[in-house]
Amino acid sequence: MAENEEPFRRGMVVMAHPDDAEWSCSGTVARWCAEGWDVVYVLCTDGSKGSSDPEMTSEKLVEIREKEQRDAGNVLGLQDVVFLGYPDSYLEPTLELRKDIAREIRRYKPDVVIVGSPGRDIERGYYVSHPDHLAAGEAALSAIFPTARDRLTFPELLDEGLEPHNVREVWVTGGDNSDQFVDVEAYMDTAVKALKAHKSQVDQENAGEWFRQGRIDTGKKVGMAYAEGFKRIPFG
Ligand SMILES: [Zn+2]
Repeated sequence: MAENEEPFRRGMVVMAHPDDAEWSCSGTVARWCAEGWDVVYVLCTDGSKGSSDPEMTSEKLVEIREKEQRDAGNVLGLQDVVFLGYPDSYLEPTLELRKDIAREIRRYKPDVVIVGSPGRDIERGYYVSHPDHLAAGEAALSAIFPTARDRLTFPELLDEGLEPHNVREVWVTGGDNSDQFVDVEAYMDTAVKALKAHKSQVDQENAGEWFRQGRIDTGKKVGMAYAEGFKRIPFG
């Protein structure tokens, strides 16, 4: 950050599903909120496919997952949670999705936006991403640059009173190329509590342990007890 610029105080997290943000960056979000930032989540899908229970319906699940995500947001201290409502598991990086994300960026004017990686990393071998995650990452990056800052793109957003906004940095989660590390040691209990708010999705017995271990492994790379890592993309 340049010396003459205001410190960051507004964050946004754009993810595909309810619970993605908790898995990937809730320690950082807990820290931002504790430090007085305004933080908003934008969830692209409705989470309507995330159950193997034969008694469960998509309609019931949408309600359950929205409530769980709002509960997690209350634990973290989010300013708002926005549900774009696209059907789970069918997400594509369309112009419509790009516009919907750009609308929220213009509305909430974040300094930093956290997004998932749009890249499918075959080389890693042990993890193949959900297609919704790739689509959300691609649409979010395109919404940040150039759509949110370009006056003449989607002029209907201007008609809604939403002026262009320049995001100052993007932090991409989930890659092996992290160069931005956040010390989340003091926020682990809050982050795990937020994760466990997703009762329909998260193993209440083991999830906390998996979550902590991931932060310990990341922290080891940079001499922190618990850390979350991101690939940082600054916009000048
Ligand atoms: Zn997901």
